Amino acid sequence: MEPVTCPFCSPADADIVIRNDLCYVRYDRYPVSKGHMLVIPFRHVQDFFDLTEDERNALMALAHDCRGVVESNFSPDGYNVGFNIGEAAGQTVMHCHLHVIPRYRGDVKKPRGGVRGVIPAKKDYRIED
Ligand SMILES: [Zn+2]
Ligand SMILES: [Zn+2]
Repeated sequence: MEPVTCPFCSPADADIVIRNDLCYVRYDRYPVSKGHMLVIPFRHVQDFFDLTEDERNALMALAHDCRGVVESNFSPDGYNVGFNIGEAAGQTVMHCHLHVIPRYRGDVKKPRGGVRGVIPAKKDYRIED
């Protein structure tokens, strides 16, 4: 199944930054930080849990390779890496993709908690005075 409206099926060659047999990497069109990349399986599947083992391995191999590309172009200070799985979790494009989001010292006031911030009130679990 390849819905004609799916933005991640049939990528243009020019949009592919790196690739292997099963997955490819592109820059996010609406980056949340400089160098925000997406790792995407060529096959149209809804989310991470629908991937085959080979696709999972191919996807993680490319996620690893993103680092070299990002480091040489943007010199980030850290990363958040993650999937949004299901509408309740904020997934908007229903073709599996892994976000690789470079982070820069000072880009937000209190980075502590990172991906825990998907539920803002739970992000920093320290008890504050
Ligand atoms: Zn698709
Ligand atoms: Zn997304």
